[in-house]
Amino acid sequence: MIIAFDGPAASGKGTLGKKLAAHYGLRHLDTGLLYRAVAKAVLDAGKSPEDQNAALAAALTLDPARFDEAVLKAPAVGEAASIVSAMPQVRAALLAFQREFAAVPPGAVLDGRDIGTVICPGADVKIFVTATPEVRARRRALEFANAGRGMDEAAVLADIKARDDRDMNRAAAPLKQAADAHLLDTTEMDISTAIRAAIDLVEATRAGRGRG
Ligand code: C5P
Repeated sequence: MIIAFDGPAASGKGTLGKKLAAHYGLRHLDTGLLYRAVAKAVLDAGKSPEDQNAALAAALTLDPARFDEAVLKAPAVGEAASIVSAMPQVRAALLAFQREFAAVPPGAVLDGRDIGTVICPGADVKIFVTATPEVRARRRALEFANAGRGMDEAAVLADIKARDDRDMNRAAAPLKQAADAHLLDTTEMDISTAIRAAIDLVEATRAGRGRG
C-alpha cells in the first residue's frame, strides 16, 4: 500500500505520515528533507539558493542515509528549500529516488507537496492535509520553542505565507490537491484526532468507500 500525504508547511502531514507508517508497518519518507538537504548543501558551499548549477549538482550527489533531520529543519533551510524546489531539474533529479522508495514492498507513506500529483499518482490513498496559516504558525513556533529555538510567531507566520505562495504558484509540480485526494483540515484538531481521522480515511478507501 502507498499512502500519499501532501499539504502546506506545518499542516501536520509529517507527523501524520510518521504515525500512519508505524500504524500500518510501512516505511516513511519525508520528501521535504530531500529539498532541504539540497538547499543546505548549496548554502554550505557558499552559493546562493538561486544558483541552478549548484542546486542540481547537490541534488545529483544527495545521500539520504546521512541526513541530519535536526539541522535540516532549521527555518533558513526551509526557506532556501522552497527556492531550489521550484527548479524543474532539481525535481527531476530527485524523482527516481522517491518512486523507488515507494515501490519497495510492502509499500510506504510519503509526505510532501506533489506526492499524489506527480511522484505517486497511482497511490492507494491520497490525503491533502491543511490548516489555516495562523494555526500552522502557532504549531511551528511551539515546535521551535520546544527544540530550544525561540522564534517569534509573527515571523513564523510570514515565513509560512511566503513559502505557501511560492510552493502553490511555481510552474514545476505546484502544491495542489490531487483530484482524487481526500481533504483533511486539521485546524480544529489535536494530533490524536487528526491521526484517527487519517486512519479512518485510509480504512474507508480500502473498503471502497469514502472517495472524494
Ligand atoms: O515539508 P517541508 O517544509 O520540509 O518542505 C520544505 C520545502 O521543500 C517546501 O517549502 C517545498 O518548497 C519543498 N518541497 C517540495 N516538494 C515536496 C516536498 C517539499 O517542493 N515533495
